[in-house]
Amino acid sequence: MSNIVAIVGRPNVGKSTLYNRLTESRKAIVDDQSGVTRDRHYGVAEWIGKQFTVIDTGGYVAHSEDVFEAAIREQVIIAIEEATVILFMVDVTTGITDLDDSIADLLRRSKKPVLVIANKVDNNKLLDDIHQFYSFGLGEIYSISSMTGSGTGELLDEVVSHF
Ligand code: GDP
Ligand code: MG
Repeated sequence: MSNIVAIVGRPNVGKSTLYNRLTESRKAIVDDQSGVTRDRHYGVAEWIGKQFTVIDTGGYVAHSEDVFEAAIREQVIIAIEEATVILFMVDVTTGITDLDDSIADLLRRSKKPVLVIANKVDNNKLLDDIHQFYSFGLGEIYSISSMTGSGTGELLDEVVSHF
């Protein structure tokens, strides 16, 4: 059984940027018709000799805030079912939104490991702003910049420790 790492979070936090960084080869494994599947991208990644599947969720097509939130909740529920490790990404430059809080509510019920990823920590000054994310009650916060790659090594060390 392959290990699966799912990246979840509201739009624009940087999920696809991290996904692209982790899966340079961009090998698509699945692409079929259903709406939920269309909104998920599967790729292969490797860290210290361990291969795993990464799922990027998002790219939602929704016509109202409610539909939008429902689509995100659905992705989170699937991640809780099928992922080995869930990466819950938030954005340090915007701070916590209501949607972040509602995703965190779902994830607290997961028995799978959930790692909170504070993205867009492009410089050390932004580290001062990550403490707010402890209020999710989901444990340690991993600070990264998907753009520069900073912090992703420590994150991946933690991810593969769950395999
Ligand atoms: P998604 O909707 O969660 O998949 O987010 P995207 O990966 O599409 O990124 C949304 C925006 O945030 C894009 O303009 C990215 O270039 C930007 N972004 C992603 N990661 C970082 C980061 O680490 N630092 C900064 N400053 N911007 C980022
Ligand atoms: Mg995306």
